[in-house]
Amino acid sequence: MSSLDILARDPGSRGRAGLLTTAHGKVRTPAFVPLATKATVKGLLSHEVAELGYDMVLGNTFHLFLDPGDERIAGFGGLHDFMGWQQPIITDSGGFQVFSMGHGTVASEIKGTSAQGTNRLGKIYAIEERGVRFRSYLDGSEKFLGPEESMRIQANLGSDIALVFDECTPFHVERGYTEASTERTHRWLERCLAWHGEHGDPAQLIYGISQGGVYEDLRKQSTEVIAASGTPGIAIGGSLGAEKAQMYEVVDWATSVLGGEHETKPRHLLGIGEIDDLVRGVELGIDTFDCAMPTRLGRHGVALVCDPEKRWRVDLTAGRFKDDHAPIMEGCPCPACALGLSRGYIRYLAHARELTGMRLLTLHNLAFVQRVMADLRAAILAGTLPETARHLRAGGAPGTTP
Ligand SMILES: [Zn+2]
Repeated sequence: MSSLDILARDPGSRGRAGLLTTAHGKVRTPAFVPLATKATVKGLLSHEVAELGYDMVLGNTFHLFLDPGDERIAGFGGLHDFMGWQQPIITDSGGFQVFSMGHGTVASEIKGTSAQGTNRLGKIYAIEERGVRFRSYLDGSEKFLGPEESMRIQANLGSDIALVFDECTPFHVERGYTEASTERTHRWLERCLAWHGEHGDPAQLIYGISQGGVYEDLRKQSTEVIAASGTPGIAIGGSLGAEKAQMYEVVDWATSVLGGEHETKPRHLLGIGEIDDLVRGVELGIDTFDCAMPTRLGRHGVALVCDPEKRWRVDLTAGRFKDDHAPIMEGCPCPACALGLSRGYIRYLAHARELTGMRLLTLHNLAFVQRVMADLRAAILAGTLPETARHLRAGGAPGTTP
């Protein structure tokens, strides 16, 4: 039985609206999933996240394993009780963070600043068939993560959705490396499923991760292997390309092979969350997204607004906002805008690095993204996705879509 009930489909695309059932309740899809990397959506209380309209958050296996430790969290009754969030939680596998140490991020690769073998997260000692040995960025101790360890940690965290341990193949490597790495990810998938079958909670949904980089045949093949493995859900990870057009193409390849018997498996797109990417992702048949962008920008004084030319961003720390009496965004129901707080005040708080400023901008940005997702979902249910997508892409305000 599928965990995803598809309630409506957009006839002109792969877009679908549904309800994803987990052990801690339902997620209305398509949905954005805010990051609760270290057992908190930074700066917010759980009820504030729920009141914004979010059904699920994403915890981070890598960080929680290193500190405070998954066994300690299990002692508190699991991640839900530990952080006071009784709604669905998805946890990533730790693969992305571990491999970021060795490979650098796509962004740093593109900028040509890729750190070979070391960065602020620590250092990789060895990538082996068994897993990855690395140095903890916290205390320098040697740690190990492999498929079984990742599943055990996620079992201790008690997340509703666990991602399998994969190698996040970087962008700069050649096809041969991507191919070998993707094959290893498939072997690791089998080991994850075997561990979970023997020791895991059957109520925890396991998502396989499609790799294959930017190579059409590898990406399609990987997605097919994952789908055929019997995992209840599929995440799309690894290198999605250097620019948006390529990323859309890669996601298109992946979801193009997920029809038929795989149609009702929920699909998660890892690490993508810009407004135009969310719109396109929904059209390509993605059900859930996660991304650090809205919350991270908020902590750095940047607000999401209806401005496609500026990637829907405005940097409120700029001096020109000092005497701006307008709210961040007219008509926005978030606490900052609803209270009528001015851009001048937000600028001052952000500039002074006041916690309240970070909180207000995090609330605003998450409210903005949530309303975009709510519009897209409502549009699919109403059969008006093309109009809504056009409106949002053109910089129309969420909540006012046709
Ligand atoms: Zn607002």
